[in-house]
Amino acid sequence: MKVAVFSTKNYDRRFLEEANQRYRHQLAFFDSRLTAETTPLAQGAGAVCAFVNDQLDRPVLEELVRGGTRLIALRSAGFNHVDLRAATELHLRVARVPAYSPAAVAEHTVALILSLNRKVFRAYNRVRDGNFSLEGLLGFDIEGKTVGVVGTGKIGATFARIMLGFNCRVIAYDPFPSRDYEKMGLKYVPLATLLSESDIISLHCPLTPETHHLINDSSLRRVKRGVMLINTGRGALIDTRAVVKALKSGTIGHLGLDVYEEEEELFFRDLSGQVIQDDTFARLQTFPNVVMTGHQAFFTREALTKIAETTLGNITAFETGKGTFHEVPQEVPA
Ligand code: NAD
Repeated sequence: MKVAVFSTKNYDRRFLEEANQRYRHQLAFFDSRLTAETTPLAQGAGAVCAFVNDQLDRPVLEELVRGGTRLIALRSAGFNHVDLRAATELHLRVARVPAYSPAAVAEHTVALILSLNRKVFRAYNRVRDGNFSLEGLLGFDIEGKTVGVVGTGKIGATFARIMLGFNCRVIAYDPFPSRDYEKMGLKYVPLATLLSESDIISLHCPLTPETHHLINDSSLRRVKRGVMLINTGRGALIDTRAVVKALKSGTIGHLGLDVYEEEEELFFRDLSGQVIQDDTFARLQTFPNVVMTGHQAFFTREALTKIAETTLGNITAFETGKGTFHEVPQEVPA
């Protein structure tokens, strides 16, 4: 099948081409993000392969359908950026990669926690500069602390298991609690309890209208003073302006982010020679107790192999009706 692959980086091309030796689709790679302006590049492609910051709103989907596209094959687990109602109405099928490597994201979450707590990023620079002072590098024992996991799906549960290995008390909130995870040692609590009892809060729920700005002025009033907040889920789970205020007042003691509300205009490219126009993002960079990475939690060899394999497998399953098609649930039009 002819596939227009958007937001392609060298690594995407490498892993997709390798997997495609078995699938033999016709892949056309485009560096550009999918937007209203770049939609014509997909003309004649039966499938469009998209990533997390591609624009998949109604006007773009309508244009794609006019150009002959019948399938959106997401290279991601999250699908919050797709207008599913429009896709359903346009008879456009949408597939995703439901679980490529929960460990990749869970382990990156732990990397953020440990870097923030023991200030590895500051120590690295100091030691390179011949400064061996320990002032300002004081951390705390993770062992024995209470870790709050919001969303115990594949990633949240993997993260919880790691933190239980640190001998933490792990509490969780999920509208669909799992008895198996309770047996593993975590305890489900209401969200308000999680907020007020956790020393570390980590977000692993999907971005939906219900979870949009889950962390906001009002929820931050409930947290322990000095809490560590980690978000490797989606940027808009957090109201960034509220979080900046909470950092200034000391309500939040540490912040680790792999995702950012307005990341579309920033992440996945080299802007090192340019002036960043986003003042909220720039303000976040000024705090000594904030570590940000540019949506890299998924970025392991194992994850990229699985993403390429599942994405091309989805396209083949759509085309032939054979094999597993990981379809995003369709939305029934109102
Ligand atoms: P999943 O579908 O396995 O789990 C999501 C869990 O969240 C489910 O258990 C669900 O019941 C729960 N949930 C739903 N609504 C909730 C709410 N209001 N409050 C609390 N929990 C709620 O998904 P997953 O594979 O574990 O991925 C979780 C999220 O991580 C994805 O939606 C995606 O946004 C993000 N993600 C980020 C990266 C990255 O590189 N940073 C990579 C992959 C996924």
